Amino acid sequence: MAATENQGQGTQQQGPEESRVFEPSAAFAAQATISGMAAYHAMVKEAETDYEGFWARLARENLSWKKPFTRTLNEDDAPFYKWFEDGQLNVSYNCLDRNIENGLGDKTAIIFEADDGTVTKASYKELHEKVCKFANGLKAKGIAKGDRVIIYMSMSVEGVAAMQACARIGATHSVVFGGFSAKSLQERIIDAGAVAVITGDEQLRGGKKLPLKAIVDEALALGGCDSVKNVIVYKRTGSDLPMVAGRDTWLHDLVEGQSAQCEPEWVDAEHPLFILYTSGSTGTPKGVQHSSGGYLLWAALTMKWSFDIKPDDVFWCTADIGWVTGHSYIAYGPMAVGATQVVFEGIPTYPNAGRFWETIKKHNVSIFYTAPTAIRSLIKAADVDPKVHPSNYDLTSLRLLGSVGEPINPEAWMWYYKHIGGEKCPIVDTFWQTETGGHMITPLPGATPMVPGSCTLPLPGIMAAIVDEAGQDVPNGQGGILVVKRPWPSMIRTIWNNPDRFKSSYFPEELGGKMYLAGDGAIRNKDTGYFTITGRIDDVLNVSGHRMGTMEIESALVANPLVAEAAVVGRPDDTTGESICAFVVLKQARPTGEEAKKLALELRNWVGKEIGPIAKPKEIRFGDNLPKTRSGKIMRRLLRVLAKGETITQDVSTLENPAILEQLKEAS
Ligand code: ATP
Ligand code: MG
Repeated sequence: MAATENQGQGTQQQGPEESRVFEPSAAFAAQATISGMAAYHAMVKEAETDYEGFWARLARENLSWKKPFTRTLNEDDAPFYKWFEDGQLNVSYNCLDRNIENGLGDKTAIIFEADDGTVTKASYKELHEKVCKFANGLKAKGIAKGDRVIIYMSMSVEGVAAMQACARIGATHSVVFGGFSAKSLQERIIDAGAVAVITGDEQLRGGKKLPLKAIVDEALALGGCDSVKNVIVYKRTGSDLPMVAGRDTWLHDLVEGQSAQCEPEWVDAEHPLFILYTSGSTGTPKGVQHSSGGYLLWAALTMKWSFDIKPDDVFWCTADIGWVTGHSYIAYGPMAVGATQVVFEGIPTYPNAGRFWETIKKHNVSIFYTAPTAIRSLIKAADVDPKVHPSNYDLTSLRLLGSVGEPINPEAWMWYYKHIGGEKCPIVDTFWQTETGGHMITPLPGATPMVPGSCTLPLPGIMAAIVDEAGQDVPNGQGGILVVKRPWPSMIRTIWNNPDRFKSSYFPEELGGKMYLAGDGAIRNKDTGYFTITGRIDDVLNVSGHRMGTMEIESALVANPLVAEAAVVGRPDDTTGESICAFVVLKQARPTGEEAKKLALELRNWVGKEIGPIAKPKEIRFGDNLPKTRSGKIMRRLLRVLAKGETITQDVSTLENPAILEQLKEAS
C-alpha cells in the first residue's frame, strides 16, 4: 500500500495539549451566516439524518441549474462517485451571468493590485464581457467542449478570465503555476493531452520580469506535445517575443471583433471542469480531476460557511491561480457568491515585507486568507525590520482571517490573531487538499471556539474520522489516519489518465476500499473532539516505540523566540529504531561552528522541556531556508534523505529552491 507506507497511529500522545481557547466575539456571531454551535450541530444532524437530501437541498438552493438533477448520488461504481449526474449547468454562467441577473452587474468583481501597485477594477459586467469575448475567441480557434487547455499565466484578470472562458465553453482547463520549468510544463501538457496553451509574454514579480511564453516555447520544443495546436499570449510586459505563425496568437488579436455575448455550453454536472496537479510534497504530482456541479457547489458553500462572506466584504486570498486555493477561492468561489475580491500579482516582500498589510488598508480588505509559510516569513521579517511590523499599518478593515496549506504552528497562529486580527478577528484554519475541492475541517467563524493549531471540526456533511491501519475507528485522544467515510460533492473524481492510482492512493483496499484516505495523520481532542493534523502519514516518527507526528516537535521549536521555521524528520537509528533530525531556520543569520553547537544544545533542551526528553532531536542542522514546494510547503521527504546522508534521487520537479539542499546536507 504505497500511499500508506510507514503510516502510524500516535498511540502515545506526547506533550502538553494546547489549552488556549478563543471564542468568536458575540458581535461576530450575531451577524454570522452560521451563528453559534447549536446551528452547526443542527446542520450536522441534518446531514447525518438524510445525507442525500441534505446535499440535494443545498445544490438546489445554491446553484442555478439549466436542467435540474433528479438523482443526487450514484455509488454504483464506487469509488468513482457521481453527484447530481443528470443535472446540467454551466459554471461560468453561475459565476457571472447569474450575478448580473441579480442586479450585481456594476458591482466590482475584481480589484487587481499589480506588482507595482497599479490598480485596475473589473465589474461583473466587464468581466462577463471579457470572458465571453475570450470564450468566443477560443471557439474560433476550434477549441470545444471536452478539449483540455493548459493555462500557464501569472496572477491577472486575464488569468481568471481564461479559466472562466474555458468553463464557459466546456473545455477542461489545467492551470500550471507560472514558476514551473519547461520540463514540468511539458509533462503536464502531455499528460493532459492539451490542444492549446494560454500564457503571457512575461510575468512581473517583485519588480522583475520573468519569462512565460519563452518557457512555453521551450516546453513544446522538448517534444511529445503535438496535440497543442494553439498558443494564446496575453501581453503583460510588452517585451519583444518571437511568435510562431499559425500557432501563436496574441490575446488582444484573438478577442478583437468577438461578440460580447457567448451562450454558455451546458454541461452535465460530472463534466470535468479542471485537472490540477498536486503540489508534490509527498511524491510525484497527481492530476486531480474535478467535476462541474459538485465542485462549484462546495466552492460557493464554503465561501458562505467558512468565510461568512457578505455583500460588502472585500475578500483577499493570496494564493496563486496555479494552486487549488486559487481555483476554489479566487477563480470560482468568490464569483459564485457575487463577492468583490482582490487579485494580487506581486509577492509579499516587494517593495518590502509590509506589502500585505499595506494592501489590506489600500483596498479595505475585510477577509484575508493566506498560508502559514507566508505568515512565518513575515513574522521573521517584522522581527528583523520593525518598520514592516504590522503595528505600523491600519488593519482595522479586517473582520476575518484564514490559513491554508500546512498546519499552522500555535505560535504563528497567536501572532496572526494578535497582530493582524487585533484579537477581534476569528481565524479559520482550513484543512483541505487539492483532492477535496474545498474546505473540509475548519472552525466556523461565528460558531466554533478556536484553539491555536487545531482545524477544529468538520464542516456539516463532511464525515471525517480517524482510524487505525485496519480502518477501525480510534478513540479520541489517540492519533491515527485521517479519512472521510462518505463521498462528498466536491471530491476528486479520478486521477487523470490513471484510475488505478486514484483507487490505490485514495481508497486503498486495506481500509476497505470505501473510505477516502487523506494521507495526513490526525488526532482528536479527548474532550472537544477537535481535530489536529499531526503531519503526513509518511512522516510519522517512531522513537523507541513512541509514535509522534512531525508537527508537534516543529511547533515546539517554532515556539522558541529564536526560531523562524523548523522541519523534523526521522532517520534509522541502531538504538532507538528511529531518531529525530531537525532542520531549523533562525530569525537571526545562520549560525556555524561553535555557535551552532551551542544553539543546537539550547534548542534540544528547549524541546525536552516543552514536550519531553523523547522528543529531543538527536541532531539539529541550521539553514537559511527549508526545501519547499513552489506552493510554499516544506518537503520533508527530501529532508529525510538528507538526514540519512544519502543522495536525492526523488522527483524534485516542484521544488522551489534546489540550492538549499546543498547547505542542509551536513551539520552547520
Ligand atoms: P502531494 O499530494 O503532491 O504530496 P500536497 O499534499 O502538498 O502535495 P496539496 O493538495 O496542495 O498538495 O496540499 C494538501 C495538504 O496540505 C494536506 O494533505 C495537508 O497535509 C496540508 N494542509 C493544507 N491545509 C492544512 C491545514 N489547514 N492544516 C494542516 N494541514 C494542511
Ligand atoms: Mg497531497
